Amino acid sequence: MWMRKLERSDLTTIKAKKGWLKMHLILFGPPGAGKGTQAERIAKKMGIPHISTGDMFREAAAKKTELGFKVKEYMDKGELVPDDIVVRVVEERLKQSDCEKGFLLDGFPRTVFQAEVLDRILERLNRKVDAVINLEVGEEEIIRRLSNRRVCRVCGAVYHLIFNPPKVQGRCDKCGGELYQRDDDREEAIKRRLKVYLEQTKPLIEYYRKKGILVDVDGNKSIGEVEKSIEQILKEIKD
Ligand code: ADP
Ligand code: AMP
Repeated sequence: MWMRKLERSDLTTIKAKKGWLKMHLILFGPPGAGKGTQAERIAKKMGIPHISTGDMFREAAAKKTELGFKVKEYMDKGELVPDDIVVRVVEERLKQSDCEKGFLLDGFPRTVFQAEVLDRILERLNRKVDAVINLEVGEEEIIRRLSNRRVCRVCGAVYHLIFNPPKVQGRCDKCGGELYQRDDDREEAIKRRLKVYLEQTKPLIEYYRKKGILVDVDGNKSIGEVEKSIEQILKEIKD
């Protein structure tokens, strides 16, 4: 079975909270689980913005903005950026008009504090998180994925040297930009990020399970199969 069957209680809770035209979704999972890869595809199909805090911070770092300087040292070491910085950035982003259609969050929230702040922000807007899709992937597979990940310096598209290689080596299929290896995809930072995930982020699984809005997905399958599983879940929620 490629995913935990949605239990009736989950569906009832999710449906009770729904606002179908405005889906507020979170893609959750350890670093390297495939959140960004799936978020890009799903958000495009649903016509909602894909909001990745990691992408926002990398962009700020590349542009050498004040925010970029502040976050880069945490990112390169595999540490979390402090909550106060993260929630400020997310709050600003959620105020933008494209988020009125709903959104797909990737890489946020990463601490219980962030999740509580998100709930408060949405409450003020009379909205709620509709579903949290939890991508479950084993540690060996995570390391395989992260150590061979390559990212486009220009548009941020994500590749894998073996599982999702670009058509032309070292170049982005979408924009022709140069592909690079993230500083935090090196061995020491990967280890640190996995530890940080277990200590600070994994507890959110219980936070969202208690609310009845968490759905587990087997993320060890191929990119296409995982995408199908997520689509099936979203369809079940909608029907
Ligand atoms: P995250 O956003 O969770 O850190 P990414 O989406 O960047 O993860 O994926 C990590 C790496 O694994 C990338 O190189 C990506 O191409 C690759 N990848 C993503 N999903 C899969 C999958 N289902 N099977 C194999 N490789 C994958
Ligand atoms: P990601 O692209 O999601 O793997 O994030 C890359 C890095 O950005 C993380 O290792 C953190 O340093 C930082 N980061 C991204 N999102 C958050 C968040 N929600 N809270 C704290 N740090 C974050």
